Order: sequence, then C-alpha cells, then structure tokens
Amino acid sequence: MNETTIFGKRVRFQNAISETAVANIRDTLWVVPTQHLTIIRQIDVVPPLMLASNPNYAGGGSGCGYPRLSELCFDRGFRPNNFPINLTLLHEIGHIVDHHYGAFASLSTENKATLRSISIPASALTQGEGEYYAIAYQQVISGGASAAVRAAVLASSAFEGVDTVQDRFSEQSVGGGA
Ligand SMILES: [Zn+2]
Repeated sequence: MNETTIFGKRVRFQNAISETAVANIRDTLWVVPTQHLTIIRQIDVVPPLMLASNPNYAGGGSGCGYPRLSELCFDRGFRPNNFPINLTLLHEIGHIVDHHYGAFASLSTENKATLRSISIPASALTQGEGEYYAIAYQQVISGGASAAVRAAVLASSAFEGVDTVQDRFSEQSVGGGA
C-alpha cells in the first residue's frame, strides 16, 4: 500500500502511485464543495478485482464510507469521460453525501420524481434511490445536469449553506439552497 495526500485527504494506492491518477483526483476534488470534502475521510485506488468480479470493472464503490476506485477508472481507454474530471469519483462522493445528509430523503415529492426520471445504467452495481442521487450529484458537480436535476439536487439538505460550487465548465454558481 502506497500513500499520498491530496487537499488534505489520504489517498492510498494498492499498487504504485500513479501520477495520472493523482492529477485527476486533484482536478476532481477541486470542484467538490468544501463542506462535502470534509466528510471524505480517504480515497483508495485498488485493482478492479478488489471491487467487482468483472476484471474490466472500471468503476468505484463507497460501501465502506469512503470512495474506493478501480485503477481502470484512470485509464483513458476505459473511461475517457473521467478526464479532466473523474465522474466515477464524483459519483461515489455523491453516495457518501447522500448517506451523510439523508439528501435524497430530504427532497420534496416533486424533486424526488425529477431524480427518479434519471435512467440508471444497467451496468450499475447499485440501484434504487441512492443511485439516482449519486448520478444526479455527479451531473451537477461536473456541470452536466439538466436545469430540473440541478434545481432538485441544490434543494437537497446536502446543499444547505453551500454558497458556491466551483464549476470550471460553466459560469453558473449556486445561489444557496431553496
Ligand atoms: Zn452508484
């Protein structure tokens, strides 16, 4: 196990530390609201078989309370969409944020319906309400959410008191949770 620190977060690599992964994680954490970063204890980067039975699994997990990412999610061939911002990492942070704040459960009936309208990929290992929130969170933080999804996520308990989302892909900033 090898360790480094990114924005004060311990990042552990099962194998050698990858400079590509370190830069990618740094670029991704940069756009995560500070309040949400404080609940991320550490990040682990592990071989795919430590996450799933499929050796080509290029995703992550967060069942232990912090993001665990497959080495393959830093492979541009497997996950071109994870550059410059790692959508897999944002997704796993979304699960942790949802769990910490009870974010999906805090939503109005209308906003829950908006998130349930998101299609969950068949390949996703997690299904259900938490998965909707994690996908929506990733979309909002990466700048790819629809206006309706963005409004719903920003109305969740996780964004109370969060004044600014650093978003390098758009000029939008969060005007506080409604
Ligand atoms: Zn998920």
